[in-house]
Amino acid sequence: MRVDYHTHHERCGHAVGKLEAYVQRGVEIGLSQIGLSDHMPLLHVDPAHYYPEMAMPMDELPRYVEECFSLKERYRGQIDVRVGLEGDYIEGWETEIRAIIERYPWDYVIGSVHFLGEWDITDFRQTHHWEGKDVLQVYRQYYDAVSKAATTGMYDIMGHTDVIKRFGFAPAAEQTEERIALENAALQAIAKSGCAMELNASGLSKPCAEMFPGRRMLTEAIQLGIPLTLGSDAHDPLKLGDYLPEAEALLRELGCTEVAVFEGRQRSFLSLNV
Ligand SMILES: [Zn+2]
Ligand SMILES: [Zn+2]
Repeated sequence: MRVDYHTHHERCGHAVGKLEAYVQRGVEIGLSQIGLSDHMPLLHVDPAHYYPEMAMPMDELPRYVEECFSLKERYRGQIDVRVGLEGDYIEGWETEIRAIIERYPWDYVIGSVHFLGEWDITDFRQTHHWEGKDVLQVYRQYYDAVSKAATTGMYDIMGHTDVIKRFGFAPAAEQTEERIALENAALQAIAKSGCAMELNASGLSKPCAEMFPGRRMLTEAIQLGIPLTLGSDAHDPLKLGDYLPEAEALLRELGCTEVAVFEGRQRSFLSLNV
């Protein structure tokens, strides 16, 4: 395995393990690069009155960054640590998000749509929001947010691009054509923005039982020339790199032989053929 660019740790409240445990595990499993990319603190909802354990508190952010950079130094020569953030995209909060992104010397920032308004569509505690909703309409809203996120130019990598499928809510079979059109429009916005996209293997362990994105979107993304990264989205050091061999195999099968890597928000490529 070459790289794992999507990881979390205990500061976010719903992951276990210290940052260093992830880095050590990365050395153990032979990663050449590990990207630390914990969740951005909550901005648009009050952490005191929202679901608990969503993200690190705002005042932890400087300590997170400092610890990441000290690990990057300490493990130099053993593994390349990259310092990242899984930044949310929240429509209407672009200025506040940009301020957080610009405050620190990140190696990369992932842009993920978790929130449609105050609903975190990736949170298993909030699936009741699907009740009584037109599924296709939710997909429209979601992919519209993905396109807008890419267009902001704030992010280096778009995260789990089709995560809206996570809990298995999908438009009806006769709406497949429109679903595909929505997915493709989002991919075109990503391609146009020039940012990369991750193949997030964690979807295999979710109710949707597919990586994010699935094979069809991934094939389309490769055709559009979107650079790809790999991530396990580990929330436990023991899950670091989970399903990444499958993800790498899929990339190779689809003719993709390199993955994008970042330092100081500059992109380069690492060959998968080693
Ligand atoms: Zn998380
Ligand atoms: Zn995420």
